[in-house]
Amino acid sequence: MPDYGFSPIIGHDQIKEVLQRAAKKRQPGHAYILEGNAGSGRRMLAKAFAMSLLCENFGGGGRPMEPCGACKSCVQFLTDNHPDVKVVTHEKASLGVEDIRAQLVNDMQIKPYEAPYKVYLVPEAEKMTAQAQNALLKTLEEPPDYGVILLMTTNADFFLPTIRSRCTHLAVRPLPDSLVLRALTKKVQEAHDTSAAELSAEGNRPEAAEKAEAPFSAEEVSETEIRMAVSFARGSIGEGWNILSSGRFPFQKKMAKKLATEAGSLSVSGLLSLLKEWEAGDYPVILECLRLWYRDAILWKAEEEKAEKYLLFGEDPQLEETSRLRYESLERIVEEIDRAGARMKVNVRPENAMEILFLTLQEEYRRASVNGGNV
Ligand SMILES: [Zn+2]
Repeated sequence: MPDYGFSPIIGHDQIKEVLQRAAKKRQPGHAYILEGNAGSGRRMLAKAFAMSLLCENFGGGGRPMEPCGACKSCVQFLTDNHPDVKVVTHEKASLGVEDIRAQLVNDMQIKPYEAPYKVYLVPEAEKMTAQAQNALLKTLEEPPDYGVILLMTTNADFFLPTIRSRCTHLAVRPLPDSLVLRALTKKVQEAHDTSAAELSAEGNRPEAAEKAEAPFSAEEVSETEIRMAVSFARGSIGEGWNILSSGRFPFQKKMAKKLATEAGSLSVSGLLSLLKEWEAGDYPVILECLRLWYRDAILWKAEEEKAEKYLLFGEDPQLEETSRLRYESLERIVEEIDRAGARMKVNVRPENAMEILFLTLQEEYRRASVNGGNV
């Protein structure tokens, strides 16, 4: 299967259909909003659409509704050399009026070099300042026939209503867990096959040595870890894959378990020294692993035998000990974990949010005298 176009994109069938039809009829809208979470597939959809619009053979002569991958335009696109495709970038934290003017508004006045369209991809479009949006608005009001703008955003509410009303809005919704699970399992398998093929073809090439040092080893990813990543991903294959391929997942899982099993006996200074090893990206994943641990404990408590197949930490004998906490305690802990995550999002220092959570854990454990709480 090719790794470009619509076919490798999992789910989002309705959006694909809308975009494929527009490309086939050669009647794209002038502006689209692709709204969805990070890693949800917005960029893949936007790129597949841009490539399809520009492909010389798209859908012609009974071909599938996919870019051909072989015409001059496709080759230019795949090597990031298409003169009529622009990705609008920004160096500062926000996407300012100068960025929009130079890279989009003024650039669009120049006719396409070769293709019938000029396509502008705008990642992180929610970062456009009000001034930048006003500059863009003028273009949206009177766009040249060939102009197509693809705004990618996590939240379309950041746009001026006048912008929203001039765009086709496509909501890139979270995928069902079953699809994310299938996709991640396949990606892990592919990564495994690739590294196995590289090993067998190795010789003493320098790249082989480099690969050996890469943090991600597909062989070490267990089915349980994939299922945990699915839970964390909340419908986004990209997010799930980030966790699995970061090389930090085994550490993150270990830390979550350590907190869950040792909070009763660990001191605050012990916690703080643990936190020194954590990187910024570890916090949300560790919190999610912790949440799963307690969710498992609740399930275990409710239905010891039936629950087994749903448990993510199921093989772990220490889960049973946690499950001896009262329901109220377990529920309070899960609420506190969610609260810690919310605090981190509003810029409370993550160390402080962890400390507050840790104190709740200690309190509940001591009360119940479990998991080392009987000190
Ligand atoms: Zn083509």
